[in-house]
Amino acid sequence: MSPAEKYLDLIKNLPSNVKLIAVSKTKTEKEILEVYHAGQRLFGENKIQELVPKYEKLPRDIEWHLIGHLQTNKVKYIAPFVGMIHSADSLKLLKTINKEAKKNNRTIKCLLQFHIAEEETKFGLSREEAEDILNSEEFKKLENIEICGVMGMATFTEDMEQVRREFRLLKTVFDWLKKDYFAGSPQFNEISMGMSDDYRVAIEEGSTMIRVGSAIFGSRNY
Ligand SMILES: *Cc1c(COP(=O)(O)O)cnc(C)c1O
Repeated sequence: MSPAEKYLDLIKNLPSNVKLIAVSKTKTEKEILEVYHAGQRLFGENKIQELVPKYEKLPRDIEWHLIGHLQTNKVKYIAPFVGMIHSADSLKLLKTINKEAKKNNRTIKCLLQFHIAEEETKFGLSREEAEDILNSEEFKKLENIEICGVMGMATFTEDMEQVRREFRLLKTVFDWLKKDYFAGSPQFNEISMGMSDDYRVAIEEGSTMIRVGSAIFGSRNY
């Protein structure tokens, strides 16, 4: 099946409250356009140096989501246009995003990335780190970012019960933050979890945004 056919097949069975971020990293403009013409508008990239040229060349009604680790010195390159940053994982980064958003007269939507995997390698906040950020006076002053929810990546394993436990943990974190910090914030509504191999489990556990690459575009050649 072509990417467009795989895409159409995937969205056919997607619950209406779940958004699909088509992860187009390493894929060409031609491949992205094929999925765009099939109707997709939300695309995800994990590297600034790949995202910026794609933004410049592809249709302007694409909403670009940054899903990978973001260094503070690169925020300025995407601040004028990025639709959402899924990987906010420090106060320093949030402050930089706020500053660059302000320069561009806009508000940037962010998700707080949490460390939910049992393995050590993934980025993300602990619950304690998130509390420290959310309780800080510095955070409360940030007016050009909008925290829209949480993001997490499960362990890279075939053990779907472990993956399910990790997604369930992220849902618990979301519910806790919603209750204790974002009760009056209707925009705090997103749980970004689930990739090609585990998005079905993620949806069962409450995902509202799945980030799917290879199941649409095929495997990546680095
Ligand atoms: C690459 C990537 C994905 C998509 O991975 P697939 O397994 O190809 O669906 C999702 N989230 C992040 C953060 C990624 O880097």
